[in-house]
Amino acid sequence: MKLDLKLTGCRALTMDPARPAAHTIGIWQGRIAGLDEQVEDLPATETVDLGTAVVLPGFIDAHTHLAWNGRRTVDLSGLSTVAQILDRLAGAPGEGWIEASGYDRRIMDSPLTAADLDQVSGGRPVYVADISGHACVVNSPVLDRLPGISSDGWLTENEQLAARSLRLPYSLDEIAAELHTSARQVLSEGVTMCAEAGIGAGLIAGSPLEAAAYQRAQLPIRVQLMVSAHVLHEVAADPADGVPRAIDLGLHTGFGDDMLSLGAMKLWTDGGMIARTAALTEPYAGTANTGQLAESEEFMRAAIVDGHHAGWQLAIHAIGDRAIDFTLDAVAEAQRQRPRADARHRIEHCGLVRPDQLDRIAALGLIPVVQPTFLWSYGDDYSEIMGEERAPWMYRGRSFLDRGIIVAGSSDRPVADGAPLRAIEFMVRRRSSGGRAVGPDEAITVEEAIRAYTLGSAHACRKEHVLGSLTPGKLADLVVLGDDPRTSESIAEIPVLATVVGGSFSFQRSS
Ligand SMILES: [Zn+2]
Repeated sequence: MKLDLKLTGCRALTMDPARPAAHTIGIWQGRIAGLDEQVEDLPATETVDLGTAVVLPGFIDAHTHLAWNGRRTVDLSGLSTVAQILDRLAGAPGEGWIEASGYDRRIMDSPLTAADLDQVSGGRPVYVADISGHACVVNSPVLDRLPGISSDGWLTENEQLAARSLRLPYSLDEIAAELHTSARQVLSEGVTMCAEAGIGAGLIAGSPLEAAAYQRAQLPIRVQLMVSAHVLHEVAADPADGVPRAIDLGLHTGFGDDMLSLGAMKLWTDGGMIARTAALTEPYAGTANTGQLAESEEFMRAAIVDGHHAGWQLAIHAIGDRAIDFTLDAVAEAQRQRPRADARHRIEHCGLVRPDQLDRIAALGLIPVVQPTFLWSYGDDYSEIMGEERAPWMYRGRSFLDRGIIVAGSSDRPVADGAPLRAIEFMVRRRSSGGRAVGPDEAITVEEAIRAYTLGSAHACRKEHVLGSLTPGKLADLVVLGDDPRTSESIAEIPVLATVVGGSFSFQRSS
């Protein structure tokens, strides 16, 4: 046997308990053929000496938004005055819609309004996305097309959706270009697979042909598509199948191949902490606001039960503890009606978990798909709005692992920075960018954090049999790092030297 590629001299952390370390990796036909003595004596078409670099399984981002992230918009990140924003928007090239992103209402000298935007838009419609993903600011030409909505330009949730739908759709080529932009970026950060958190409907949908855009794009990373529960519709299946609602052709979780597949059915049960719309049982500190559920309880419960019956894995967005209560009850009801072993439903974000909810999450076999970097970026703000008692309950780590709950790492890019090493550092240190300790008791070890971003996220995507560890037989996805996260003082700063997908170098750092 002749290997396609042999990587030698490395320090590999395999995440496989049967053989945790290796120095030589043999790759054949896109898969790991063997490690160390299993492949040392075999010839190879190409041999690469990694010279003591550290190798990990490729990172898997279990919840991200590649198309949204790659969208070409005017970047307002970090701007905190209306004057700065108008200045940036005034030169927007092209014609038609002006789209901007990175707006952060919380840091503004005064909130941006439609009247402000009208000054520089030249009559073009303007859509400024808030970084929360749950709100936007639009100008008068947009508001004029939204009868029944009275606003100074700031729109949240369903009103935001109404404004968004005026802009849609994007063309397949536009979406494919967005995807390639994001794929290049994630590869440079060591990510080899992404789960796209919702296509087909809702705020982040770009086109009714969305899945076709991913096929057309032929991306150099693996992608799993989560499908919005809004596309479930009644079907006239044989009653013996017990499937009242499905998507066309009965497609569901698992369809596809190792490069592009269908993942979970995505459902939103509340908003988010940035926009103060995450649904809480007790109000945000110092306010009477308890956030809001995303849809009617009837709609959400039916989607969970019907999606479960139709064979879907569910990915249920729930950030506040009230939304998590709702999710736990609805999943328990679905499982009562039709027990499904290893249904592996996920809670996307799982942001604020009361102590009494932990055992229920474990008992239902739910997987929290967390975004540690939220707390690095926004932990100071979130700690304030949750108050002293609840702040340590946010985006937990240790409490989940101690109960045997599998934790999946993810970014929600572009809502937060997407680099996995940044997230891993946060999971270990629990320090915000402002230096604040956020739930320090939830800290986990470096190995556990790497596991969350490899095997844990592979498990959440039902791909742990082919991804997530450097195990002979699995797909040859790996990341080459310039230092060992277990001993590094600054994990987030470790350089990603190369990223390999299916045995091919898809990214190499230029020195
Ligand atoms: Zn998301």
